Amino acid sequence: TKKALIIGAGIAGIATAIRLAVKGYRVEVFEANTYPGGKLSEFTRDGFRFDAGPSLFTMPQYVDELFTLAGKNPRDYFNYKKLDTVCRYHYPDGTQFNSPANVNDLAKEINRNTTEPVESILKHAGYSERIYRITNHVFLERSLHRLQTYLKWDTLRSIFRLRQIDSMRTMHKANQSFFNDARVVQLYNRYATYNGSNPYKAPATLNVIPHLEQHYGAYFPDGGMYSITQSLVKLAEELGVKFHYNSPVQQIIVENHKARYILVHNREIKGNIIVSNMDVWFTYRKLLSNYPALHPNKTLKQQRSSSALIFYWGIKKQFDKLDLHNIFFSADYAAEFRHIWQKKNIYHDPTVYLNISSKHQHTDAPEGCENWFVMINVPANSGQNWDALIAKAKENILHKLSTALQENIENLIVTEDILDPRSIEQRTSSYRGSLYGTSSNNRFAAFLRHANRSAKVKNLYFCGGSVHPGGGIPLCLLSAKIVSDWVGDS
Ligand code: FAD
Repeated sequence: TKKALIIGAGIAGIATAIRLAVKGYRVEVFEANTYPGGKLSEFTRDGFRFDAGPSLFTMPQYVDELFTLAGKNPRDYFNYKKLDTVCRYHYPDGTQFNSPANVNDLAKEINRNTTEPVESILKHAGYSERIYRITNHVFLERSLHRLQTYLKWDTLRSIFRLRQIDSMRTMHKANQSFFNDARVVQLYNRYATYNGSNPYKAPATLNVIPHLEQHYGAYFPDGGMYSITQSLVKLAEELGVKFHYNSPVQQIIVENHKARYILVHNREIKGNIIVSNMDVWFTYRKLLSNYPALHPNKTLKQQRSSSALIFYWGIKKQFDKLDLHNIFFSADYAAEFRHIWQKKNIYHDPTVYLNISSKHQHTDAPEGCENWFVMINVPANSGQNWDALIAKAKENILHKLSTALQENIENLIVTEDILDPRSIEQRTSSYRGSLYGTSSNNRFAAFLRHANRSAKVKNLYFCGGSVHPGGGIPLCLLSAKIVSDWVGDS
């Protein structure tokens, strides 16, 4: 049997391992950390459990599909529930409302709390769905880098309908054309941050994202986000996949334009195919540093997505006004993004995302307490003075939350941990600590992202957030599918 070597046990690496095992490959996964999951990991501290990275779970069908593919019932491994309330929004002017899962209810809720008519919300939902219909099969589920894709009728049809996917204006411009109320424009602009982009630059095609959340819904996995990683590792192991932790891959060895070996603990290991789940930038610059002629320099120069600053706070109080997902908007969204993208620092009044998994998973915090995951969007790491930026941001966030919740939050913190662009880069080898690989701030981003296979090295494949189709759990899972389809056909 053929042997597949996978570099990295991020969610895409694990999913690729499962798919290749199902195809009959002997699969071994080499992970630098002592645990699987990469960004999708967890930690506990002083009686609190925190999901370290992702907190919003959408498109659970892509996870289920992996169990079904292996002939298993996903419900024997992994369960989740659909959220009735997707998010609770708070604005600086005191406006507050929930976004219910159903788009008709959402339209009514927005209408009750702003000046926006119900019709404009529904019109936007229809528009978002249209973009999804056109882009889904072509831009997400297939490789854009195979001739075969272009020979399919629906690809050609999508390409001819490019105008309809609204790629010629920015997301912000499009949202302004739908909505009169600035608070509603801000709410819809925020979806650009779901892949680390800037709504004032990114093409309006990203308006597809609200459809994914509002139509397919948002979910909470039993046991928290990390149970996605755990259940998939369990499945992979049952399929015979071998995981080697504490095993950073040092080099990929190429002979005659074919990837032949990986070097781990100074030992050469041979494989028929090699799949890198390591960020594509580091895969070339570190693992393929001996072969500069093979580097796709132009592709590697693309702008990176934004990063994040997270405070994990154990809070000795419970707040009825808060839900699982909460947003506290900034008063000036354009200024906030100018700071992230042009000044490359942190605006004094950032939009704060507060996630509290203990609202659903009560065991995540001690009795009477809550586990707060407090996140703001920040620029990718380019050597800023992070210690100073973080200290200032903490002060501003505490002030903002204390004002909104009318409570001195600092006094309630019993334990704290921090994640910033430097530690994200260090723990998961993400170039510049970007959360989602390259940004989508450019209308051609979908075409410029690195392919799921190397153009110059045979047998070398790529999965994960830094390559096609992009970052976020659902897209990372799709990258695994594209790799395994490609491997199967070659
Ligand atoms: P990664 O998670 O980046 O993992 C790569 C793995 O490869 C790591 O384990 C690393 O140690 C390993 N590795 C790297 N180099 C080597 C080497 N040389 N040898 C061996 N191993 C190596 N997505 C969502 O869908 N919803 C969200 O709400 C969300 N929020 C996020 C919040 C934060 C704070 C972060 C950080 C990310 C968030 N994301 C979210 C994005 C999501 O986490 C990522 O897109 C996804 O988890 C990336 O998976 P990946 O497979 O690309 O690999």
